[in-house]
Amino acid sequence: MIPFDFEYYVPETVEEAVELFAGLEEAGKEPLYYSGGTEIITFCRQQIIKPGALVDLKAIPESCLLEKEGDKLVLGANLSLDKISEQVDYPLLAEAARAVADKTVRNRLTLGGNICGRLPYREAILPLLLADAEAMLAGPEGRRTEPLRTVFDKRLKLAKGEMLVRLTVPRAELDLKSWSRRRVKHGPVDYPLCHLAGVKKEGYLALAVSGLCAFAFRSDEVEKVINDTALAPQDRAGKTVEVLPGPVRNDGRSSADYRQALWQKDLTEMLEEMEGAGR
Ligand SMILES: Cc1cc2nc3c(=O)[nH]c(=O)nc-3n(C[C@H](O)[C@H](O)[C@H](O)COP(=O)(O)OP(=O)(O)OC[C@H]3O[C@@H](n4cnc5c(N)ncnc54)[C@H](O)[C@@H]3O)c2cc1C
Repeated sequence: MIPFDFEYYVPETVEEAVELFAGLEEAGKEPLYYSGGTEIITFCRQQIIKPGALVDLKAIPESCLLEKEGDKLVLGANLSLDKISEQVDYPLLAEAARAVADKTVRNRLTLGGNICGRLPYREAILPLLLADAEAMLAGPEGRRTEPLRTVFDKRLKLAKGEMLVRLTVPRAELDLKSWSRRRVKHGPVDYPLCHLAGVKKEGYLALAVSGLCAFAFRSDEVEKVINDTALAPQDRAGKTVEVLPGPVRNDGRSSADYRQALWQKDLTEMLEEMEGAGR
């Protein structure tokens, strides 16, 4: 049970949602955009958050789209991770979505919630960072479409009152040669110790990772090291540790040393396999 009252709104367009949100904010209601609601409900029950109003985005058709538009794949922020895992013709993304929780829970979890929520793993974002996806955001100042990599740094940088509407991926990126491995401590339904995903584009290797540090990332510095083929794969994997964008995570589920060993092992294998695999 949620032990406090809140207002609940179900707008039908992006503009209505944004306007409602701004008004509620001005009225001091501390509103939240609500997508699958799993995280919001859990935190409300525990009184970690206490929003005075929720703006449910599920009735906005535009945010539920899964379609091809010209040379792009469009992914509405309200798509469930289950739908993405079952229906999206983008193997790396389908696989990343399928790795999150179990099917029943995935049916509720949304792409927008995975990217905008508080949990740091955000595994669905890994393929999108690799695919040079664009994010459409909407807020009181209107809409803007930005390269995902410029608006994502540890978390999605939303301006006040902004929501994530959708992501688009160039179709040419969908079939790139890819590689991924997800390491967990317990069974498959567990947070990743290290989820590494990589693609090869015209000979260049790009990678994104979740679980290794306190946030998911794709890093130019790391990619510079792994693309320096003067060094052996194992040496490059070792050298990346010097340029990681944050300390390797050390928590009750795994020591930093163990996570780092997994990272170096998997990265070495990725480099060996991808470099032997043509362009
Ligand atoms: C059992 C379980 C296991 C999990 N395992 C994993 C895992 O292994 N790996 C992993 O990466 N994640 C995992 N998660 C995290 C999960 O992916 C996110 O918590 C989840 O996707 C939240 O989605 P939601 O739609 O329910 O979000 P909600 O509860 O609706 O929202 C979460 C937050 O995101 C904001 N938000 C949602 N949509 C938007 C939007 N369109 N625009 C702006 N803000 C928005 C909300 O305001 C809120 O602050 C797990 C979650 C559960 C419950």
